Amino acid sequence: MNLIFLGPPGAGKGTQAKILEERYGIAQISTGDMLRAEVKAGSAVGLQARAVMEAGGLVSDDIIIRMLADRITRPDCARGFILDGFPRTVPQALALDSMLADQNMHLDAVIELKVDDEALVERIAGRFTCATCGAGYHDSYHPTSVSGVCDKCGGATFIRRPDDKRETVAARLEAYHQQTAPILPHYAAQGRLHSVDGMADMADVTRQLVAVLDGVPAG
Ligand code: ADP
Ligand code: ADP
Ligand code: ZN
Repeated sequence: MNLIFLGPPGAGKGTQAKILEERYGIAQISTGDMLRAEVKAGSAVGLQARAVMEAGGLVSDDIIIRMLADRITRPDCARGFILDGFPRTVPQALALDSMLADQNMHLDAVIELKVDDEALVERIAGRFTCATCGAGYHDSYHPTSVSGVCDKCGGATFIRRPDDKRETVAARLEAYHQQTAPILPHYAAQGRLHSVDGMADMADVTRQLVAVLDGVPAG
């Protein structure tokens, strides 16, 4: 099953992709996580991407498309993948269509997580992740069960993203509305677009997603 999660920053794409990854045995592919790994490694791609990411802009299509083309052919994608954070521009969506056609792969569903801008600011400002296992949390909406200890791995070190500052969120939301939202009609025209209410609580969003996927024809 090959899926795309579309939605503004903070909509819950990563949270839900991790849940579906376990449930369906498909790979979560987060271009944001891939870029952060490049930045951390100090690679050529990381050096080019860093300033753009910190300013809340979008990294160039060329870099992203090359990175993704390589990623979807890896063995962990054999049972399918969830694209989390890609495509983010119309040229990326068109490149994905031809990449999939070349590999004889297809998309099963494109799911839009709809969340109001005001709620996104709160979600992003409170977001943090475990430095050891990558589990995602939120100061108010999803704190760790024991303060300062990761529920999943017991780790005690947590990270906040440099681009999750309130000042940067406006730029990221604008990039979404200007450059990413125009992709929605592309997938609607293909008959693949499903929208879910991302304002609901996490468990309810998961239920909505499972209901959509249960209704998607196999193959
Ligand atoms: P979020 O899920 O909060 O929107 P991501 O982790 O997906 O954030 O992305 C973080 C940053 O990485 C983006 O703001 C952007 O600078 C860059 N990025 C990630 N994916 C893409 C992409 N497909 N195209 C361009 N830039 C991207
Ligand atoms: P995205 O990957 O779309 O940028 P995340 O999955 O990282 O978004 O979620 C952003 C923040 O909001 C995280 O701190 C997460 O714990 C929290 N969150 C995710 N889904 C919900 C929800 N349905 N209700 C409240 N908070 C949520
Ligand atoms: Zn952990």
